[in-house]
Amino acid sequence: MRRFGVSIPDNLAEDLDRLVKILGVSRSEIVREALKAYLKDFSHYLTKHECCGIIATVSSGVLKVVEEYKDVVNSYTHAHLGDSCVNSFLVSGSSDRIAELHRRLLGVCEHVRFIPLKCNVFKP
Ligand SMILES: [Zn+2]
Repeated sequence: MRRFGVSIPDNLAEDLDRLVKILGVSRSEIVREALKAYLKDFSHYLTKHECCGIIATVSSGVLKVVEEYKDVVNSYTHAHLGDSCVNSFLVSGSSDRIAELHRRLLGVCEHVRFIPLKCNVFKP
């Protein structure tokens, strides 16, 4: 086991402490699980490959960005949930290009998740 000293904003620390109480687990356990989920979403970008997956966003104004990535966006859905716009994009193509789209969406959306579905860098 390795130890890291990590600085996080106060509001994030307060949310973490509230989750510790609600879930009855340690801070370290929550941070480990969050890091695992993050690495699962992003680590396939470490090796260039033909990538396929679904990007989900909660935000308006993403379609302008997505328009620039028609070469990797195969289809999308757009719906409203309360005041929020919920989008899902089926993407396939070069992992470099999808990583670039992912990075752009992270810059304009409150919530972005990429679910890799069929990456040839993953072992079965
Ligand atoms: Zn991939």
